[in-house]
Amino acid sequence: MSEPDKVHTDMFTVTFWGSRGTRMVSDKNHIVYGKDTICVEVQCGSRTLVFDAGSGIISLGESLIKRNIDSIDLFLSHSHYDHVEGIPFFQPFYNTDFSSTFWSGRLNGITHSRDIVDGLMKEPYFPIKQEKFLSKIRYKDISDFETLQLGDEIEIETKPLNHPGKATGYRVNFKGRSFAFITDTTHVPNKPDEALIEFIRDVDLFAYDCSYTDKEFPKFATYGHSTWEEAIRLKNSSRAKAMAGLHHMPFRTDKALDKIAEMLKTNGKGCRIARDGLKIQL
Ligand SMILES: [Zn+2]
Ligand SMILES: [Zn+2]
Repeated sequence: MSEPDKVHTDMFTVTFWGSRGTRMVSDKNHIVYGKDTICVEVQCGSRTLVFDAGSGIISLGESLIKRNIDSIDLFLSHSHYDHVEGIPFFQPFYNTDFSSTFWSGRLNGITHSRDIVDGLMKEPYFPIKQEKFLSKIRYKDISDFETLQLGDEIEIETKPLNHPGKATGYRVNFKGRSFAFITDTTHVPNKPDEALIEFIRDVDLFAYDCSYTDKEFPKFATYGHSTWEEAIRLKNSSRAKAMAGLHHMPFRTDKALDKIAEMLKTNGKGCRIARDGLKIQL
C-alpha cells in the first residue's frame, strides 16, 4: 500500500508545453515540434513548478484544471513576449480556488514581478487588468545568485544569464536529482562559460537555448542566444547527464529540427530537441 505514495512524493518530471522562441508558429511545416512559445512544467512530488509563461502556459492551465492542481510556483526567465505572452490567458488565474507564487529576477527597467504582469495587462493592449484575476497571487523578486528553499525538499538556485535586458537561469534540486532551465542566453565562441558550467554541474537534465547553429551564430551574435553545438560542449564540460534544446526559431521547420535532432543524437550522448508535449522523468 505504501509504494504508490512513495512514487508520488519522489516524482520528478519535466514536461515541455512550449518550446518555440521569438514567436508562435502555425503552419504545416511546424507540426511535430509544436507551435507554442516557452513554458516548462516541473513536478517535484506534489509541488508544481512552472518555468516561463509563453503561449504554452495556456494549454498547461487547462491541464492543471483537469488534474485538480490548485497551486503553482511560476518562475520567469525574463519578460520578453515569448516568455510571458500566455499570462493574460492562463485560465487558473481567474479561478478563486487557485493560488500561485510568481517569481522573477532583476530585469533592465523592471525590478518587481508584479510590474511585469501590470505591463502586460493594461489598456489599450488588453481590456482586463490583473485586478480581475480571482486567484491568489504572491509576487516575489529574486536577487542575482539567490538560492531559494521552497519547502518539501525543493531548492532553487538562480544565476543571471547573458541576454539583452537580462534573464535568470534556474536550477531545481530535489531529492538528489536536478534540472536546470537555461534560456535565453548567449556565449562567446571558443571561450567556455565556467560559471555556467559550474551552475549546471552534474545535473540530470538541462534545457538550453539552442536557437542557432554554430554556422548561423556570427550573423546573430548580438541577439542573446546560443547554439546546439554549444549545448553539447556545455554538457560535456559540466558532466550533465542529459540536455533538451529549446527556443526553436520560427524559421526552423520540422524538417530542419529533424536534422538538428539527428546531429544531437550523433554528437551528444543524452542530447535531444524539446517538443511540445515531451515529458522526461528524472
Ligand atoms: Zn526568448
Ligand atoms: Zn529574450
